[in-house]
Amino acid sequence: MLDFNFIKNSLPHAIILENASDSEAYRLASMIICQNDNSPCGVCSDCIKANAHSHPDILTYRKGDNVEKYNIDFVRQLCELAYIVPNDGGRKIFLIYSADDLSVQCQNALLKTIEEPPMNVFFILCCSSKEYFLETILSRCVLITQNDAEADEKSLNTAIDILSCAVLEDEFSLICKFVGYKKYEDLRILCEALVQGLQKMYTMRLSLDSSDSNENLKDVVRRISISSYIKLFDVIQTFSQRVNANGNIQLICTAFCADLKRALYK
Ligand SMILES: [Zn+2]
Repeated sequence: MLDFNFIKNSLPHAIILENASDSEAYRLASMIICQNDNSPCGVCSDCIKANAHSHPDILTYRKGDNVEKYNIDFVRQLCELAYIVPNDGGRKIFLIYSADDLSVQCQNALLKTIEEPPMNVFFILCCSSKEYFLETILSRCVLITQNDAEADEKSLNTAIDILSCAVLEDEFSLICKFVGYKKYEDLRILCEALVQGLQKMYTMRLSLDSSDSNENLKDVVRRISISSYIKLFDVIQTFSQRVNANGNIQLICTAFCADLKRALYK
């Protein structure tokens, strides 16, 4: 769980929230809207409305949901809205999900408002990676990021899922695992996790009395021949090289799935 308490003493007006869940992002908004020292106190009228997801001054935006797309018109409306005083006279929070989908043009349009926001206005920009923001935006925001250990654990699980789908010849699920990948940085993290995941599986294969009690995983691990492990390491290395060469992401992922299959079953 992310610790937001450190920002309480000097509440930043713009926050980039990297790699956090939607509920964590909302928790941060709830903490800011409550003006008591022990925020969120849970008992003031701001907290009660925030908990009921009905606070008129916590404005949430989600592309493809309540916003058709993030374009210049959207950003302009947002900036205009920032200058309208909060309904309840307290604070006003703009919580923008998938803010890394804001184009360069949109980020530039947002810049001035983020730089000098009206009093009591706060922006929370949620993203999977901060690297998609302009330097100018980054320099004006406080970055709060998920700690690496949790992120690592998550990518390791994803990596093992991917390898398991390949082993179980579940091609549909395998391809689905790559749908969310749009960025090279995310794929680079995945490549590292794949190596770690495969190492873990290989170790399990060599000593099947391993302490890992996951029976499904043990079953998967048993199905891979020792020679296939070597081939799989090569396949991941090729995948990594293609990612680092900035090839077409969709093609790289499709090729990787085909290579996995070949390494396992030919
Ligand atoms: Zn409160």
